[in-house]
Amino acid sequence: MTIISQTELAKKRKNPVSLESDQAFNCPYCAAAISVRIDQTAGSRQFFVTDCEVCCRPIEIELDIDADGYVNFIAKRGGEG
Ligand SMILES: [Zn+2]
Repeated sequence: MTIISQTELAKKRKNPVSLESDQAFNCPYCAAAISVRIDQTAGSRQFFVTDCEVCCRPIEIELDIDADGYVNFIAKRGGEG
């Protein structure tokens, strides 16, 4: 049966692509150019930690999305500030 996979497909179609975007930034440790996927449906204020793809250290990500969809993006070293 393929009922489960059809349900998964329906879920994906509900999410407009425009509500996801990639934010490029430089690693605060090694300055490598990396990017993260922002899901704007997850809220207008988000905080999460992602590991640098190059040096694998934890980067704290803070972002605010205003009413116009503009993303105020902050990437900093974990444990600071
Ligand atoms: Zn790095």
